[in-house]
Amino acid sequence: MDRTQDWGQDRDEVRLHGGDGHRDPAGHPLHLQEQARAMLATAVAEARAGLAEGGIPIGAALYGPDGALLGRGRNRRVQDGDPSMHAETAAFRAAGRQHSYRGTTMVTTLSPCWYCSGLVRQFGISRVVIGEARTFHGGHDWLARHGVRIVLLDDADCAAMMRDFIGAYPALWHEDIGDE
Ligand SMILES: [Zn+2]
Repeated sequence: MDRTQDWGQDRDEVRLHGGDGHRDPAGHPLHLQEQARAMLATAVAEARAGLAEGGIPIGAALYGPDGALLGRGRNRRVQDGDPSMHAETAAFRAAGRQHSYRGTTMVTTLSPCWYCSGLVRQFGISRVVIGEARTFHGGHDWLARHGVRIVLLDDADCAAMMRDFIGAYPALWHEDIGDE
């Protein structure tokens, strides 16, 4: 069974059938939750590697329509001295040239900023799986309004990782999100 086919379902259709005991509270079939969580683990590993390097702990990965990993990366503002190297951007660049982004999934530990939300829309990435949006609420509502399928996992570990980081390095965090 090719489970990735289910990802192509219309967002409203998925919600319509929610709450039958075989789906999570957000209305996604449980096997999609499992697949999303497996993808998130890759992004979390990137975030933790970034933290170990003294960087900002945000990780991401791009998966193909068949579920194959195309690229992975992490925020490298500190490591590379490059404020444009966000986790999603790094994963996107690591994936190289793709003929089409239809059916691909970007997974990220944190709600995507406007810059990365723009990247998702520019290249027509179909889905975004998000670890958490408690510590930062980026552009995922805007993406959803424009037809991008959003899966917000509200992962407690992702939120704790960011909360700890922001508490320890507030100036670096505000630099990253563009606050004065
Ligand atoms: Zn970003």
